Amino acid sequence: MKHELQQDIQKVIYSPRRIAGMVKKVGSELSHDYAGKCPLMVVVLKGSAVFAADLIRSLTIDCEVDFMVVSSYVGTQSVGQIQVVQDLRTDIAGRDVVIVEDIIDSGVTLFSLKKLLKEREPNSVKICTLLDKPSGRKAEITADYVGGTVGNEFIVGYGLDYNEKYRNLPFVGVLKESVYSHK
Ligand code: 5GP
Ligand code: MG
Repeated sequence: MKHELQQDIQKVIYSPRRIAGMVKKVGSELSHDYAGKCPLMVVVLKGSAVFAADLIRSLTIDCEVDFMVVSSYVGTQSVGQIQVVQDLRTDIAGRDVVIVEDIIDSGVTLFSLKKLLKEREPNSVKICTLLDKPSGRKAEITADYVGGTVGNEFIVGYGLDYNEKYRNLPFVGVLKESVYSHK
């Protein structure tokens, strides 16, 4: 059955089938690189929740999962400032940490988050993102594991929202212009 939110979508960028392929690829890279280890998967809420749920089930190694909520300061604040709204409950000292993100755009959020987590003396910190938007980059940050890339457009679905909606779409797509202008 057609999704009732589908009418707001201009085009689908990644179908559920392609997303599944991306998750499988990233999952097997992680399973290979962390063989014999037990990485802590740090899920950055809310956008990454859907990806993380699929990703951890594609791992064939031991792992643990914890969640974080961060928000970027907007406006006049200097680049690289984030606020930890909800912190991890896990002590990451000596641990192998994998940050699970939905999308990297400017990279500002991840740049600061990685710096913050490194201060807690983990053994390693790597970044795994479903999507990369390289055209938006402002901070010097690269993901270690990337599912796919997107162009300079605002996308929704598979966890990614517009005003908290569209997270439940099973695909990744671009919203119609009319959705922005009518609200
Ligand atoms: P950054 O700090 O890299 O600019 O972006 C951080 C966050 O902004 C991402 O984790 C994501 O939650 C949100 N974001 C960036 N680009 C998009 C996009 O195209 N669509 C949606 N829904 N969120 C985005
Ligand atoms: Mg995010």
